[in-house]
Amino acid sequence: MAGMAEKGTVKETIQIFARVKPTREETSKVYSVNNDEAAGASVEFVVPKDLGDGYVNNKLENYKFRFRRVFDQTAGQEEIFETIAQPVADRVLAGYNGTIFAYGQTNSGKTFTITGGARCYGDRGIIPRTLSYLYQHIIQDSTMVYTTHISYLEIYNNVCYDLLDRQLEACRLEDLPTVTIMHDSEQNIQLRNLSIQQSANEEEALNLLFLGDTHRMTAETLLNKASTRSHCIFTVYLCGRQPGSATVRRSKLHLVDLAGSERVNKMALGGQLLTEAKYINVSLHYLEQVIISLSESRAHIPYRNSLMTSVLRDSLGGNCMTTMISTISVDKTNLKESMSTCRFAQRVALIKNEAVLNEEEDPVLLIARLKRENQSLRDELAMVTGEPRQEQLTQDEIQKLEVQVKDFLDDADPEATLALGTDLRKIRRCFTLLKTIVSGLRQQLTIIQEKLGRATGTGNELTPLSAVATAPAVRGILISEKEETEKTRDQDTTAQLNGPRLSMGKEEAFEIFMRDHEDRLTIEDNKAVLKQRYIEAKGLGVQVNKTRDSINELKKQLEMRRIQRADQDHPEEEEQDPVEAIILKQVEAEKKKFKSYIGDLKTLRTEIQHVQLLMERAKVKLQKDFKEWWSEETPGPQDSGAPSRLQTGRPSPNSKPSSPGRPGSGGHSLSYFPAHKQQEPYSHVPSATDLRSFVPKIQTMQTPSGDRPASSHQRGGSVPELTPQLRDLSSIKPADYSIPLTGDSRIDDDILAFVRARQNLLQRRDTPQQ
Ligand code: ADP
Ligand code: MG
Repeated sequence: MAGMAEKGTVKETIQIFARVKPTREETSKVYSVNNDEAAGASVEFVVPKDLGDGYVNNKLENYKFRFRRVFDQTAGQEEIFETIAQPVADRVLAGYNGTIFAYGQTNSGKTFTITGGARCYGDRGIIPRTLSYLYQHIIQDSTMVYTTHISYLEIYNNVCYDLLDRQLEACRLEDLPTVTIMHDSEQNIQLRNLSIQQSANEEEALNLLFLGDTHRMTAETLLNKASTRSHCIFTVYLCGRQPGSATVRRSKLHLVDLAGSERVNKMALGGQLLTEAKYINVSLHYLEQVIISLSESRAHIPYRNSLMTSVLRDSLGGNCMTTMISTISVDKTNLKESMSTCRFAQRVALIKNEAVLNEEEDPVLLIARLKRENQSLRDELAMVTGEPRQEQLTQDEIQKLEVQVKDFLDDADPEATLALGTDLRKIRRCFTLLKTIVSGLRQQLTIIQEKLGRATGTGNELTPLSAVATAPAVRGILISEKEETEKTRDQDTTAQLNGPRLSMGKEEAFEIFMRDHEDRLTIEDNKAVLKQRYIEAKGLGVQVNKTRDSINELKKQLEMRRIQRADQDHPEEEEQDPVEAIILKQVEAEKKKFKSYIGDLKTLRTEIQHVQLLMERAKVKLQKDFKEWWSEETPGPQDSGAPSRLQTGRPSPNSKPSSPGRPGSGGHSLSYFPAHKQQEPYSHVPSATDLRSFVPKIQTMQTPSGDRPASSHQRGGSVPELTPQLRDLSSIKPADYSIPLTGDSRIDDDILAFVRARQNLLQRRDTPQQ
């Protein structure tokens, strides 16, 4: 737990851990993990001599690297969180800065470890689990008052972008807001233009995380699939103080997903990609420089050379407790990079940090406290000097007191006080005022409870649930459920995933695209999970309701019993009524159940919320992939006549854009469709079924045999072999063929685009999958 005993400074080297990504390859002879060494743990690579393709020193076969702990392939996300992140979170709660960063080559599991996987709730990574942990602690710890803020930034090509800025929905690279760094007189860095958002609870924090991740995905398109070449830093800012104290503790927790650490020489890239690779290389190179300088205790540490090292300055050799997770892949082709990652970690482990308890006096709070002290001293003085007073308070004084009580009640600060001095008349008056307010509230509560009681008696199946909805924990779930029901009602999956309505042709293409998309199963699985959780939540809601009714019923019985006994005038010695004791026991038991149901509901709520966010993100990704795919498959009117860009790979979010194109230069922008295309009412466009008949028509005209059956467009049906000349369908012009067209060139373009896209798809299905 966060111990307050660790006051002052904590000197500690950066803690290093390793995590091996699961693989299907047989790797038992390639590496071994030992977690039971006196000095911690180690991972050992065994590189056979015959594998020595230049990177192995032929005399050596074994490479051993030490870590604090090594997580082998089977390690789960919870274990990673508990071992790595929880101790850091505890320190952050105690007022120290913390950083956890993941380092490793692309695809080695950095994002999976830091943020989590998109497949299921159990795959959530360090960020959501840490948020959950922090907020749980904040709620439970009544000795401290906390406020939390969050920022999320991405550094790409040495430019810093704010992932929480709403403008990130912008479509061009140059529209993205950039964050700049300033150094103050004490060499502390200030980030200008970075939004730091308050997040009062776990739900808000999670929303910010997913907002940032969705923006990261959008930005990825804009930045030409940059996710592997950019660094992401999610930061939680915590400010805590003990009630009544003017001392505040401010701490920061950076959770960092670094760019892929692969070397540029292995990547064999050209053009734009090389420039970007060079940039990361530069960026990670500067990180390495900083780390080398620190590990060798040099006088000058080149933090300022790059944005990333400037932002993480405190985390590296400064006021922070830092932990590094080296993510490694043990597939044979990745061994060299993995060893290089481990080697880097050994350097990092030499860096000493000095974390200081970040405590300071808050001047505003200090002044408030001094004012209170001053007032009470004055009052004391008045009492000692025996200042004469009226027996009754004046009307003016009473009015002032009422205002004072109102302010006191309205003050959100739990430590707010009612400064009345030592005047007993005022104190009494305030108590009377408070009593009046409380009785009023009690009456209102009774009325509400009676109303709810009546509502449950109607026999309507849904009523108990809506009655429970008054409990805040339940309300959240029911609201999301209601929203979800409303969202899904009357909507088929296509329309739901599609956002703005598409023309019939595009819609059908989308359906086909979605059927083949790798995330489809995930979305469906998550949908099923959500449904199940809603049912569970509903069930729990009913239980909560029943328990509450039963408590009310028992209380009524108790009341009756007491009245009866009072009437019977029981002798004094019979004070303990056995019946009453039994009822009280039952009430206690029911209350326990009630608490446990509410607890379960809260847990369910977190899961439902997370899965909902996962699905939202998956939907955005699907739409994005579809738009990219569509724009690749259907060169717009401006491209007609250009060489065909038919592809043979299956649609996948990882598939490279057909033309690399500079980001933002229009080659791959999100706003591919001209606005008029989306708004156009396609009233006179043929239906999707009509459109199907166009495809065979084209084929019939173009196939030399001319007598192909028209069944090729059916799902799973075989497609006739196309001549090379035929493959270039982008050159089809309306005038050349007997495709019934509308005469409106924009709509006709769309029809032809669909025909081409469909053609590509059918052709692709026939191509063996890699
Ligand atoms: P990186 O961020 O290092 O490029 P990712 O975290 O994106 O790598 O991981 C690449 C792929 O491997 C993803 O599909 C991810 O879900 C999967 N993956 C990574 N680590 C694990 C793990 N420990 N268990 C299961 N899947 C993993
Ligand atoms: Mg990643």
